[in-house]
Amino acid sequence: MRIVLLGAPGSGKGTQGKKLAEKYGIPQISTGDLLRAAVAANTPLGQRAKAAMEAGQLVSDEIVMGLIRERLGEPDTEPGFILDGFPRNLTQAEALDRMLEELDKPLQVALHIDVDFDTLMQRLTGRRTCESCGQMYNIYTSPPKIDGVCDQCGGRLIQRADDNEETIRKRLEVYRSQTMPLIAYYREQGKLRTVKGDGSIDDIFARILSQLEGVE
Ligand code: AMP
Repeated sequence: MRIVLLGAPGSGKGTQGKKLAEKYGIPQISTGDLLRAAVAANTPLGQRAKAAMEAGQLVSDEIVMGLIRERLGEPDTEPGFILDGFPRNLTQAEALDRMLEELDKPLQVALHIDVDFDTLMQRLTGRRTCESCGQMYNIYTSPPKIDGVCDQCGGRLIQRADDNEETIRKRLEVYRSQTMPLIAYYREQGKLRTVKGDGSIDDIFARILSQLEGVE
């Protein structure tokens, strides 16, 4: 299965991507995670990406395409992949199509997770992540049992540097102006499927699975 998850920051792409990856035994590839790892490791690429990420802007297409080209060259992507947070604009979407065409492995589905603006704000401002195991929480809707402590491993819960209100507004604006046009792009290709991204994680996952029926 070769799919792209489309949706605003906070729409649940990461959460649902992880569940899909587990179910289908294929990797979830998040350019945001790859970039955050590069920033944390202070690699030259991370140093170039850091300022744009902190400002809620997109990192350059050149950097992101390099990361994706490298990642899609790894053998675990052979049976398929779930792209999460990529592509983010038309240039990236067209470059991805060309890359996959060369590999004779075209994209099958672009799955759009549709969530309203107020819900996105609440999800993003309340989001916390365990620094040890990556488990995600939301202080409003799915809080940990003990404030600031991971239920699963006891690790410390941290807030992403770009999950503050000002940067969130910028990221949502970037989504509206640069990423939303991809909905029409994939609709024209006949690859778009849309699910409502409200309700429980399991409800949303069930909607996604029904949209993916018949896709191998
Ligand atoms: P995410 O975790 O997907 O919300 O991404 C966090 C930040 O990483 C974004 O706000 C961008 O600065 C950067 N980023 C992630 N994916 C991309 C992409 N495909 N193109 C450009 N920038 C990206």
